Amino acid sequence: MSKSSDGELNPAGRIDELREIIRHHSRLYYEQDSPEILDADFDAMFRELAALEDEHPDLITPDSPTQSVGGSATITFSSVEHRVPMMSLDNAFTPDEVTAWGGRLQRRIDELGASAESVGLVAELKIDGLAVSIRYENGALVQAATRGDGRVGEDVTANVKTITGIPHRLPKGSPEVLEVRGEVYMSISAFEELNAAQIEAGEKTYVNPRNTAAGSLRQKDAAVTASRNLSFWSYQLGEVVGGPELTDHHQIFEFLGGMGFPVNPEVAVLHGLNDVDAHLLQWQKHRHDLDYEIDGVVLKVDALSLQRELGFTSRAPRWAIAYKFPPEERTTKLIDIQVSIGRTGRATPFAQLEPVFVGGSTVEFATLHNQDQVAAKDVRPGDTVVVRKAGDVIPEVVGPVLGDRPKGLRKWKFPTNCPVCGHTLVRPEDEAVHRCLNLSCPARVAGAIEHFASRGAMDIEGLGEQRVQLFCELGLLSDVADIYSLDSERLKGLDKFADVSVQKLLDAIDGSKTKPLANLLVGLNIRHLGGAGSVALAEHFGHLDRIEAASEAEIAGVEGLGSIIAASVHQWFADPTNRIVIEKLRAAGVNLQGPEASGLPQTLEGLIVVVTGTLDGFTRDEAEAAIKGRGGKSPGSVSKKTTAVVIGAGPGASKVTKAEELGVPILDESGFLELLETGTLPSSVRTQGDS
Ligand code: NAD
Repeated sequence: MSKSSDGELNPAGRIDELREIIRHHSRLYYEQDSPEILDADFDAMFRELAALEDEHPDLITPDSPTQSVGGSATITFSSVEHRVPMMSLDNAFTPDEVTAWGGRLQRRIDELGASAESVGLVAELKIDGLAVSIRYENGALVQAATRGDGRVGEDVTANVKTITGIPHRLPKGSPEVLEVRGEVYMSISAFEELNAAQIEAGEKTYVNPRNTAAGSLRQKDAAVTASRNLSFWSYQLGEVVGGPELTDHHQIFEFLGGMGFPVNPEVAVLHGLNDVDAHLLQWQKHRHDLDYEIDGVVLKVDALSLQRELGFTSRAPRWAIAYKFPPEERTTKLIDIQVSIGRTGRATPFAQLEPVFVGGSTVEFATLHNQDQVAAKDVRPGDTVVVRKAGDVIPEVVGPVLGDRPKGLRKWKFPTNCPVCGHTLVRPEDEAVHRCLNLSCPARVAGAIEHFASRGAMDIEGLGEQRVQLFCELGLLSDVADIYSLDSERLKGLDKFADVSVQKLLDAIDGSKTKPLANLLVGLNIRHLGGAGSVALAEHFGHLDRIEAASEAEIAGVEGLGSIIAASVHQWFADPTNRIVIEKLRAAGVNLQGPEASGLPQTLEGLIVVVTGTLDGFTRDEAEAAIKGRGGKSPGSVSKKTTAVVIGAGPGASKVTKAEELGVPILDESGFLELLETGTLPSSVRTQGDS
């Protein structure tokens, strides 16, 4: 929260801050179909902003997110102006808020002098997809558009035409002009099928049906949309010329059904506000009985004449409200508690759950962190447990439902041996973590190879967890250097891979050979050595061989490296197994050469690099020192002159937004290392306008 100099909360500052964060997340959600936070967290910020603006109406500006429909028409598609605006909906988060809305509604109706003793409402499910408007002229589908900012949307006609159930032609006698509005969504079964196919192809799975539906609809190539099995429910009309005389909203569904549009069977007409509570709670309880996701229930005034009289605010109709379900907690069975072994030998217990759909995706596993956490929660295999999506998208086991605990369930005990290689697990004194100390434990080996290929290190696309696992199991990989001797014929012979994806992988492996020495050092998985230390080592010694030959004291003498790192680096290079790996890397033609050894090379002379968020291998000060030490500048804000913005975890929204607006290249940590060493931007940098 922004504070004024006397420490008081500063509403204007907080309002600005909230607007900026909300705009950032809206862009990710509406334009990139790739949100980074939960809807509930977004909603909480939105409500905080609305409440502050309510208290300080003088601070309301027309461009505030509370005053407009979220989203915008992007540059990807041609734009379509909506003849009748496509509005958002006001939200209520508890049944009490819905009752309060009902009270306000009734008062407004009384003020209007409209006779409605008990206002008739239509309750519809709030389908979690994205709204589209489909226009028919003389019975033919001529255009389909997304909502965009409510006034201007994107032309997605070709894509919408691929959706089963959306008529391309209307029956005889249809209106001259008819705009049908509704929600494009992906059913849960279609989503699961798609993900099963992704797993089969060794590709990344999608996170949830809503974003996948949005991403699928906003494809340049309609053939991709067609392959995604999207669906549609119609629920509203836009412009209509020559249509039937309708008096009530519920008649729209009958009309749309008659025209051949899919209409949700759960639409209900409620007589007055008294029936509302039970209806909302019933759907909250039964939302998972459906094969599609809903995130609430929408209530709309039934009488169309009343709707017209009530009108709209700048972003939403006054005659409707969306009741949003609370963030989810679900219960499920804890099948087992297992322990996974990471690349450093760290043993992490995790819950294996009976799959449960919670917070927008199916959860089967949830971390339990360490022995003490399991003990504190006292969860036992066989328990029914409460699972929720925590502040981010990581699922969490909240605790057991003690009332459901079967008699005689034993407390879970941390295993004494590594579940993968059988070596004794050790928990050093004063540490919360157990470790497997066997360097050739297959889990550690696979973890280390995966780390080598990861974005912060050698950045080999297509070599993720599952493939590494598979290649290790097949005996194709037993250390990181084996990556460079993967044989194309052998890979093509595996039924899991298409030839194209094998070639892509081999190209990515080949490309990694020229990565800077610092990236290689990060990839070697040397304990305590992060990105900043790797850059310092590479620059000080200028070649891997000189690091290998250096004494512990010489390494400790490198600026920025302490004795713990020096000991660890020295020990790593002294190990004959690691020396063999280095020789294999050399033979494969991997770059071992660093930048010039004399002082810091002035690679960034004249360049301006802004850093935001937390990087793995650098503190903020180290990152700035690394930039300045190479002749660059590292100011606190982004401008047209900025060469690149480096983004770590939890970046400042304003910097990211500004970079996107100005088309300033955005780098991740691996790209940053490359820039530091070479002074040039990696070829794969992201700028706004890339898709
Ligand atoms: P909204 O989702 O609250 O309501 C409006 C939308 O509801 C309509 O445009 C339509 O698409 C949909 N809808 C579904 N069923 C409907 C029905 N039967 N009748 C009418 N409309 C129906 O509003 P919004 O402005 O699209 O989005 C705001 C919401 O999006 C937020 O509340 C938040 O949950 C989510 N969001 C999340 C993030 C994030 O980063 N996680 C970012 C931006 C927005």
